[in-house]
Amino acid sequence: MAAVVVTGAASGIGRASAQALVADGRQVVLWDLAPEVTAVAAELGMPGAVVDVTDTAATAAAIQRLDGVDGLVHAAGRVIPEPVGAYTVESWDAVLDVNLRAQAMLVQQLLPQLEASARAGGTPAVVGISSIEGLTANPFIPAYCASKAGLLGLTRSMAAQLGPSGIRINAVCPGFIRTPMLQIALDVDEVRESFVAAAPLGRIGDPEEVAAAVAFLMSPKASFITGTYLVVDGGVTSRHA
Ligand code: NAP
Repeated sequence: MAAVVVTGAASGIGRASAQALVADGRQVVLWDLAPEVTAVAAELGMPGAVVDVTDTAATAAAIQRLDGVDGLVHAAGRVIPEPVGAYTVESWDAVLDVNLRAQAMLVQQLLPQLEASARAGGTPAVVGISSIEGLTANPFIPAYCASKAGLLGLTRSMAAQLGPSGIRINAVCPGFIRTPMLQIALDVDEVRESFVAAAPLGRIGDPEEVAAAVAFLMSPKASFITGTYLVVDGGVTSRHA
């Protein structure tokens, strides 16, 4: 059976997405920079590997080891809190490379397998994890905001090109989700409380709640959905502050 490659699968939203896909009966391959990925993969009974998704030679080699691929969930990501006065070429590229460029290159590298899946009657799909920070302004993380807004543009462009080949591409825009990436902010009482207050549902989200949206968009239930995004934010972006 062809597999879905899940990046960032050792932790948070990527890990929960891999779990949700396995629960849906999908074959999953877990990749992450963090070595914990092999233990997470073993728990799920699926293959896992340490892969830096910004290293195109490494991803090409990892793809060569796969039998067939019918999907990609790109959840690997990073944030460096640096306003306009602080970022450098290196830190800007570090954020854009993993959050945005990696998805562009991975879809390119996986294209022959995704096209083969469609020709064989499969329903290949890609979901990228964008963010509400790709839809709204956050003054502290311009590179992150640019990467997440860019991912939405990439999603639309790729969906337009690849739709005729039967490949769907969508994004999910999570709000404030309890994962290691957000923990440093959640540990500050006022920040956590401001996140809770911003959400009409009045709480921080769980990675499983994002994973449910990912699994839906990856499934044949979303067969007529492409080139768009699903916001999973407890309502944060639905109202003015
Ligand atoms: P997380 O728990 O930190 O998971 C991200 C994973 O990506 C980590 O295991 C990280 O490994 C891995 N990673 C980083 N760079 C990588 C690379 N070059 N190659 C392979 N793996 C790499 O964070 P998360 O919150 O689940 O984030 C998942 C995605 O959701 C990210 O794109 C994030 O921007 C997005 N998101 C999160 C939230 C939120 O509130 N948590 C909201 C909106 C969007 P290391 O730990 O070794 O770096």
